[in-house]
Amino acid sequence: MPLPAGLPSGALGGAAWDTAHAELVELLRAIIRIPSVNPPDPPGQELVVAEHLASVFRGEGLEPEVLDPTPGRGSVVLRLHGDGSGGEPLLLLSHLDVVPANAADGWTHGPFDADVADGYVWGRGAVDMKQMVALEAMVVRLLARRARAAGVDPARDAIPGLRRDVLFACTADEEAGGIHGVDWLATHRPETLQAAGALNEAGGVSVELAGRRFYPIQVAEKGFEVFRIHVKGTWGHGSMPREDNALVLAAEAVRRLASPGEPRITAPMREFLAGIRAALPPEQAALVEVIEGDDPRRSEAAIRTLCDPVAARALRALLRDTISPSVLNAGVKYNVIPGEATLMIDCRTLPGTTPDDMREEVLARLGDLAPHCTLEHVIGRSPVENDRADLYELLAATLRAHDPDGIPVPVMTPFATDAKTTMLRLGVPTYGFTPLRLEPGEPFLARYHGVDERVGLDALRFGLPVLYDVVATYCA
Ligand SMILES: [Zn+2]
Repeated sequence: MPLPAGLPSGALGGAAWDTAHAELVELLRAIIRIPSVNPPDPPGQELVVAEHLASVFRGEGLEPEVLDPTPGRGSVVLRLHGDGSGGEPLLLLSHLDVVPANAADGWTHGPFDADVADGYVWGRGAVDMKQMVALEAMVVRLLARRARAAGVDPARDAIPGLRRDVLFACTADEEAGGIHGVDWLATHRPETLQAAGALNEAGGVSVELAGRRFYPIQVAEKGFEVFRIHVKGTWGHGSMPREDNALVLAAEAVRRLASPGEPRITAPMREFLAGIRAALPPEQAALVEVIEGDDPRRSEAAIRTLCDPVAARALRALLRDTISPSVLNAGVKYNVIPGEATLMIDCRTLPGTTPDDMREEVLARLGDLAPHCTLEHVIGRSPVENDRADLYELLAATLRAHDPDGIPVPVMTPFATDAKTTMLRLGVPTYGFTPLRLEPGEPFLARYHGVDERVGLDALRFGLPVLYDVVATYCA
């Protein structure tokens, strides 16, 4: 999909972008201050965020809908109309809940104070993902203003220049599986999500490597399979140790399960690695070639040389099915040898790995412990993978237009997002695309769910016109 000769953002002029940037920052700060943590504590805060966004949209003459199928768990949706001649809508998808944050854990600025300091907005959600909520909401506001400036009703009439509808959906409960948010919408109000394509979190953020600036755009995400393993031993007296102490068996099971498995290069990661290799200097390109190869030992050494520890952990996870032991329960009293233990494991699957494959892998790693273990499947979702359709090409072209030195590449994420629902249940190609040009060295990925979430003012200033151009061009 080619970009127009003059980008749509150019028509607004510099002063309009200064104003929009200031409004974006204020909106972001306002929603960070609402502690919409999940699990809800205090309850009802997701609804407060949804209502806040709705009131901002009403201020633009729009008619958003706030839906709270479960009291207090609010999502907000709205539709901007195109003239209907351009095909299915574009969905701007986001979530308004955040994971809990405790100021005592070492936050430089209070997690719900939304301080602006040192060129950043600080607080829970600045990374995951209230910054994108604010970016998408600002694009909606700018499009509504375009309508009002032309003397048409943005709630009912076609927005001048739009041929497709634009859907905005900001959901509750993403951080706990989306049951009260995106999943409910998909079941009861699918028209609020049904689209030709969707933009969501977890991609489009710049990453520096060997002096090059890459923009990995998320086109796929790994699946997950959670198992509870019941380990059977023999009860006994603590004074006489037993080999079949269930806790000892479980500890050995943890050790075996946690060892990294064999790497396997899937289609999205093959594209990612080829994309970065083509742009890197020869020395680093040679390391990428080793990672693409079939020698796991050399590949691991190359990852350690090429990547910082955070990027290395992500890359390792994207090259194999992974198992993280996460919960272990055993024992009743200090002098009783436990006869049973329960272990939970979080398995993350590559495209091509089925739930049965993962179960086989777990049993294989347990080896001679397997006869002591019963596997119970708790929950799972398949990996998802998009075609590189015209929307992907537009995302890449728009980034290049705004950052000629930037190199967009497709990528997979190791974790799951609301895209599982839009893609698996509704078939909407969903791309992780939060366009942010970061300051070199900013450890964005490490701040996910961590302390000191923050987003740069300059990164936001870069992102808003990029997102606006994507939406205005795709829907034109
Ligand atoms: Zn998120």
